[in-house]
Amino acid sequence: MTEDTWGQIRQTLQKTVGKNNYTNWIEPLEFAGLADGVATFHVPTQFIGDWVSRNFADMILQALVSAGESVSRVVFEVAAGAARVIRPNVAEKPAVAKLPEDFVTGATLDARHTFDSFVVGKPNELAHAAARRVAEGGPVSFNPLFLYGGVGLGKTHLMHAIAWELARRNPEARVVYLSAEQFMYRFVQALRERAMMEFKQLFRSVDILMIDDVQFITGKDSTQEEFFHTFNALVDQNKQIIISGDRAPGEMEGIEDRIKSRLQSGLVVDLHPTNYELRLGILQSKVEQFSSKFNNIGIADGVLEFLAHRISTNVRVLEGALMRLFAFGELVGREITMELTQDCLADVLRASDRKITVEEIQRKVSDHYNIRLSDMIGPKRMRVYARPRQMAMYLAKQLTSRSLPEIGRRFGGRDHTTVMHGVKRIEQLKETDSQIADDLELLRRSLEG
Ligand code: ADP
Ligand code: MG
Repeated sequence: MTEDTWGQIRQTLQKTVGKNNYTNWIEPLEFAGLADGVATFHVPTQFIGDWVSRNFADMILQALVSAGESVSRVVFEVAAGAARVIRPNVAEKPAVAKLPEDFVTGATLDARHTFDSFVVGKPNELAHAAARRVAEGGPVSFNPLFLYGGVGLGKTHLMHAIAWELARRNPEARVVYLSAEQFMYRFVQALRERAMMEFKQLFRSVDILMIDDVQFITGKDSTQEEFFHTFNALVDQNKQIIISGDRAPGEMEGIEDRIKSRLQSGLVVDLHPTNYELRLGILQSKVEQFSSKFNNIGIADGVLEFLAHRISTNVRVLEGALMRLFAFGELVGREITMELTQDCLADVLRASDRKITVEEIQRKVSDHYNIRLSDMIGPKRMRVYARPRQMAMYLAKQLTSRSLPEIGRRFGGRDHTTVMHGVKRIEQLKETDSQIADDLELLRRSLEG
């Protein structure tokens, strides 16, 4: 097939997809070659590539076949030297926060997660007030502060905000913020490296300890034991502890009773699911942040209200949707209208009432990598099975609210540390291996679609 033939075939596609779709999605495709039945097209951005492959790949394939080309598959690759790769809906890399030298943190704090950027409404009023109170420092009035609520409701944001505020007020304070998984990971590492003394010292010498997503401290008795002792040591010294979880302490599974009762001993506040007003408020505040970044892309009346109505699952999804709209608006150089919104967010809008299951993820991933579902779940350790398995574990962690032990159970009864290791591995790989990053993004879209 030559460029010219593609030019002709392309024309026939215009009739099928209409003028707009043609200009946006088909015209930018550049025929790059045909070998072994695979037709490759260059696309200017990842976004266009993903979109075309989701929405138009079959149609293009059919058109090629009807034109007599021997093609069995079409692929879209970002052309080398493309001006910019846009990956909407992928959270930006957190800005590396600059902290005072002796301000110890276990994990990077996101510079955007401050009290200033936190929108307060009825559903999170109490949690916000309590967080503010703790961030002011001073005598410890409730210990621990336990924040809980569903995914994407602002727990992590509030914890980061507290850490930032404490750092601002008291640069000398030693604050450790980390997820329960990181706590477990460090604990296991300390055990392995025979560095328990250092571990204990580090955690018992802090002024403020924040543990995010405590529901993941399940299983492993020794980790819970250590957590319990750290906890008690700090409370005895009147040091502030702040903990988040996905549900009330009493309802947590796999956590020892004495820890549960410890978690309940301070102030327990929950973040309620968002309401319409809060969602609209959040959207408005994000639009202000985004507009400056995206050359003043306009947004038509009614669009934010529409989003606030339709996307009620969680704030992260809402934010991702808005981000994608802006990236898209910039790409096509147009105002973000209602029509464009419905087009661009069709998948999100469809998915917004739907829950993704671990089983669905396993099915999708095994299909994608052409392995049997039984091999994905079974004991085989070869990389052809292990890697997809880790991808599926990672996606399950990201897209469902299942805990690590629950995920482990669904992968043939594996231990939660195995799941944690898998998730970590993929987290690393997706930074260095663009194929993995792309596969993840495609799988995620297809699961959410
Ligand atoms: P959680 O830890 O509860 O799962 P996060 O704190 O990670 O949720 O919040 C998910 C995303 O939504 C973050 O980007 C956060 O900044 C944003 N977000 C959540 N609640 C608010 C809010 N009230 N105001 C502004 N942004 C919010
Ligand atoms: Mg969180």
